[in-house]
Amino acid sequence: MRGFWRGPLSVLGVLAAAAAALWAILGPAHALALLAPALAVLWLRHLANLRRLLGWLEAPADRALPYGSGLWEDAYAGLARLLRQQRQSEAGLRGALERFQSATSAMNEAVIILDELDRIEWCNPSAEHHFEIDARRDLGRQLTYIVRQPQFLEYLLAQNFSEPFVLRGARGGETTLSIQLVPYGNRQKLVISRDITRLERLEETRRDLVANVSHELRTPITVIAGFLETLNEPNEPGPELRRRALELMSRQAARMQTLVEDLLTLSRLENARGPASERPVDVPAMTRSLLADAQALSGGQHSIEIARCDGPWISGSEDELRSAFTNLVSNAVRYTPASGQVRIAWRPSPEGGAVFSVADTGIGIEPEHIPRLTERFYRVDRSRSRETGGTGLGLAIVKYALSHHQARLEVESVPGQGSTFSAVFPARRTCEPAPANDVPQTVAA
Ligand code: ADP
Repeated sequence: MRGFWRGPLSVLGVLAAAAAALWAILGPAHALALLAPALAVLWLRHLANLRRLLGWLEAPADRALPYGSGLWEDAYAGLARLLRQQRQSEAGLRGALERFQSATSAMNEAVIILDELDRIEWCNPSAEHHFEIDARRDLGRQLTYIVRQPQFLEYLLAQNFSEPFVLRGARGGETTLSIQLVPYGNRQKLVISRDITRLERLEETRRDLVANVSHELRTPITVIAGFLETLNEPNEPGPELRRRALELMSRQAARMQTLVEDLLTLSRLENARGPASERPVDVPAMTRSLLADAQALSGGQHSIEIARCDGPWISGSEDELRSAFTNLVSNAVRYTPASGQVRIAWRPSPEGGAVFSVADTGIGIEPEHIPRLTERFYRVDRSRSRETGGTGLGLAIVKYALSHHQARLEVESVPGQGSTFSAVFPARRTCEPAPANDVPQTVAA
């Protein structure tokens, strides 16, 4: 800065000295004739530089910075330095922004930035998905225009964001979102939303399970407690009543035991991602052994037969497969009136897999119940299920055991005529029989 005056002052000094010399020698008119054009040239030069600068300022991004001489050269050099620094910090900011955007784009959580009037400034792809926002169309729109629940507006206005807002029925009614607002900067807000639909469903399932188990246990416990009271009375009950009470109590105890066993089986199956083991299972032998079990359960009241038993071995867990097939067979016996028929089959499927099917001529199922049969404690015929010792968990167990083997359950039924339950296994689950010297997986009963 100190050098700033040196150049102009020396030019002015030279001009002044020349004008003074001219004044002394030739008079004031000549001195003026020198000074006026010289100053005009200087002034025009500055104007030309100023014009170039103003021209550049109109579109600094598109045009190159003009060159100048003298003082203007320094000014342009300073400007060029400033520009370089600005571009560097811009590039740094852009990089940081890009990193932030790509990090938030990869997040499952939705992120929205709201301005001080709660208008959307920016959002990540998950936010577009959660709130059905179209980033191009909805930027600048108020969030309350998109989330139209009055409770959400109240939440925003209350300005108390210590607890998240739970938005039920988002995205066409199916989704539940937990929305957390974080105020920052100048009354701006960061909106972070998580899809908690699965979590809510799990919570609901847990609540239902506790309610159902309590309900299932209530009857046997009430019966046992009632009889214990009777047996404890001071005037001794007669031997017949005592025998009857003990019989009923042990039946209820057995019922509770079955329920607990089924619950444990179900919980084991639910918690596992795949079958408990991956070994060749002799399903044809298992099928034959199931026939004997079914006949024992029926007590000779039904005609039970194996229609086909030419399916392959299956790779998986013998216990899980047996549990699934036993449930299907015992259901067929329990829901078929006396003198009805049950046909069990294990056959190759046309797609290269195999099908285990149990067809009965029993009571059948109305079509509206079929999609819900594998829900825990879902029963079409409540009293028949209980009378025959059902826990309402059998088909839930079947569902999990089959899904561990990538198999699916198919149900065909005609009310009053009978049902066919089929477990359809994919080709990749079939396997060659284990060599004869291996420990047998299934021993026919
Ligand atoms: P449950 O212990 O009550 O039999 P399941 O889960 O095995 O429970 O079956 C669920 C419901 O599906 C049963 O309560 C019954 O109403 C119906 N169901 C299952 N198998 C049959 C069948 N073979 N015929 C008619 N209804 C059946």
